[in-house]
Amino acid sequence: MSYYVTTPIYYVNAAPHLGHAYTTIAVDALARHHRQRGEDVFFLTGTDEHGEPVADAAHALGIEPQELADKNAERFKALVPQLGAANDFFIRTTDPEHMAKVQEVLTRVRENGYVYEGTYEGWYCPRCADFKAENEVDEGNRCPIHHVELTREQEDSYFFKLSAFQEPLERLYAEREDFVAPRTRYNEALSFLRSGLRDVPLSRHKLSWGVPVPWDDEHVFYVWFDALLNYYSALSYARPGEDLTSEFWPASYHVIAKDILRFHAIYWPALLMAADLELPERVFVHGYLLMDGEKMSKSLGNVLDPFAVIERFGADALRFYLLRDVPFGQDGSVSTAAFEQRYASELANDFGNLASRTLAMVVRYRDGVVSRTEVDPVLAPDFDGLTARVEELIGRAELTLALEEIWERVRRLNRYVEEQAPWQLAKDDSRSGELDRVLGTLVEGLRVVAVLLWPYLPASSERLLEALGAGGGALDLSLAGATLGAGRIERVEKIESLFPKEV
Ligand SMILES: [Zn+2]
Repeated sequence: MSYYVTTPIYYVNAAPHLGHAYTTIAVDALARHHRQRGEDVFFLTGTDEHGEPVADAAHALGIEPQELADKNAERFKALVPQLGAANDFFIRTTDPEHMAKVQEVLTRVRENGYVYEGTYEGWYCPRCADFKAENEVDEGNRCPIHHVELTREQEDSYFFKLSAFQEPLERLYAEREDFVAPRTRYNEALSFLRSGLRDVPLSRHKLSWGVPVPWDDEHVFYVWFDALLNYYSALSYARPGEDLTSEFWPASYHVIAKDILRFHAIYWPALLMAADLELPERVFVHGYLLMDGEKMSKSLGNVLDPFAVIERFGADALRFYLLRDVPFGQDGSVSTAAFEQRYASELANDFGNLASRTLAMVVRYRDGVVSRTEVDPVLAPDFDGLTARVEELIGRAELTLALEEIWERVRRLNRYVEEQAPWQLAKDDSRSGELDRVLGTLVEGLRVVAVLLWPYLPASSERLLEALGAGGGALDLSLAGATLGAGRIERVEKIESLFPKEV
């Protein structure tokens, strides 16, 4: 089994912000989960570096576009490990291998009869690097996304015959209702499709910052086609001397934000069909994080700045909050106050405290040794089917729902501690067997939730699993072992607070 998942490539003209962090974290969680299944996973992210906005910004600074791209790409590259994410490759669209692949694929599209020469005239947004259809232009000829004034542009272009894919795309949407998720985004793409596809420009004439059109050196490819092809080109050179295309193409999931839905849901499959390439399995569209400035915290102020959160609370806390507080796939408000609330009540109390007090009790009452006992039948049923349910949900990119399933068990373990009151059992020698069972069950429950939480909280889960595996024999991260009672923990050690209350 192989699993290939991508973030969009980030446009180097902007500085990394919360939106980039969000997508990267989500894709990393998907990738980690699938690694736990034992699948061959490839996680791609990178930067989109061509197009007019980059050229303009570079010229304004008096430098070459390449220099600006080099500088800004580094910031995006540095963001990935800061978020606790582990990608397999970082693509830059200025990589010569990528550029050559773009030329190869688009030449084939032309040979297949889907490219022609013409003149394009329309309203153009320099920030989108895109022409707007007449019905998308806001009042005062403004971009509906950027609110900047659009310019009327006319230029010689090569066109991509998107209209030729009206029926094939309608068939695709009829046959594969999960091609785009969530459903609202599927419907949005379908309604755009039903409004009738028109051909779109494939090249820009006046621009030089892009991938040259191999059959006409006065043109470069329109940045969107260049960018979309990263998902395909990367596999051909990500590992030097190897071509991973046959192993990983088609992609399992493209995860995107809703502003680039049309490119991924319509243009991209059409382009792939035109090039005789297989289509990705699914496109998942997440929502926007809306900053709720009303709810601000003392320590973080009113802006949820991912870098400030990471510096103070760690990457795991940011990952958890973003995937927990806003249902993945929907728009939702985020705030520094809500972050602190989740941190204190869920990470520090529910999880961190459960871990440290459980391990402390095993050390205090049993010198760290865990007796081999049956899992308490009082608790066992509450964990039945949990891993399968989590797999099913994350298989559909339902990261928030899966996290809720896991968190219910974290809460259940906390209730179990209160119900069983091991500190009472410890006072009574005749109940020593019960105490062994309660502690063994708790340790085993902690192990299961730590394994399941690894995609969300990789650093903390690993720390906890290390403490649980103090008897030697590295604890397994695979989902196959993530059932209550499957573990063989022999000895544990104390753990420093996973999420300290005072930071
Ligand atoms: Zn715009």
